[in-house]
Amino acid sequence: MPSAFQSRSHRLAVSWFRIKEVADQIFAIEEPGHVQSYLVNGDRRSALIDTGLGLAPLHPVVDELAQPEIVVLNTHWHFDHVMGNPAFETIAIAGEERRLIQRAIDNATLRRIYIDACLVSGPPLPPGFDPQCCRFPGSVAARPLADGDTIDLGGRTLIALATPGHTRGSMSFLDTRTGALACGDLVYAGTLYAHFTDSDTEAYRQSLEALLDRAGDIRQILPGHNRYPLTTDWLGKAHQVFTALREGPSAAETTSAWGAPVRRHHGDQLDLLTPVPGSAGIDLAARLWPERTRSVQ
Ligand SMILES: [Zn+2]
Repeated sequence: MPSAFQSRSHRLAVSWFRIKEVADQIFAIEEPGHVQSYLVNGDRRSALIDTGLGLAPLHPVVDELAQPEIVVLNTHWHFDHVMGNPAFETIAIAGEERRLIQRAIDNATLRRIYIDACLVSGPPLPPGFDPQCCRFPGSVAARPLADGDTIDLGGRTLIALATPGHTRGSMSFLDTRTGALACGDLVYAGTLYAHFTDSDTEAYRQSLEALLDRAGDIRQILPGHNRYPLTTDWLGKAHQVFTALREGPSAAETTSAWGAPVRRHHGDQLDLLTPVPGSAGIDLAARLWPERTRSVQ
């Protein structure tokens, strides 16, 4: 019989997450308006690609769908993709981003950089959510991921592909059974972020080019934000913006993100943010852990 805590967690989880099977035994687990994670079930074990914001307990919904053995694969270190990690035992992320997910994020910081804005103007938070309780204790990734690593789930394999650009260690995961590519924040319908200090627009362009080169293996895109799944032509749309950026002055405007000036470039159904010329960009690590003298650099 479930304890009072378990049943409350279960009710909260069921009422908060939106779940949809997007391909054969691949489930999108959406925190509506925020972010989505993806559960890929093999015959022996399951992979959970990202764990979202951790605003409601993810374990109850995952347990209902997954194999008993679960490996978490993080696409990158940003808090909106990893805060559900602590509920899971086995976590993997690109080697260079392991130390970043080990750092705790306190309640005051999370409120300042994310939660307070949601309370004022949305997107919505879970019913009964207590903003005072939201914090991230950090999580340990026992397994460092590298380009070309394979994750055998039994009857299907995920290939880890290094797709740097949004962050230095960003990874995408290609399911060999369905051709679904879970790509984190590499491509989605909306405004792409390459304006952080650990973003790299040329690496971003090359990551997209490498995926276009293997377009025959990819049949759909599972993005970390906004609508999903996306058709594979979104790789080309994103590549076009980065190519235009490299080839010369583009029709960009200066705008503001996170209280700092950035350049906004317009593409076909998506935009791109880059640092203003002469600036290194927004140092997200310094904003999350201002007391540290060393940043993500
Ligand atoms: Zn991100």
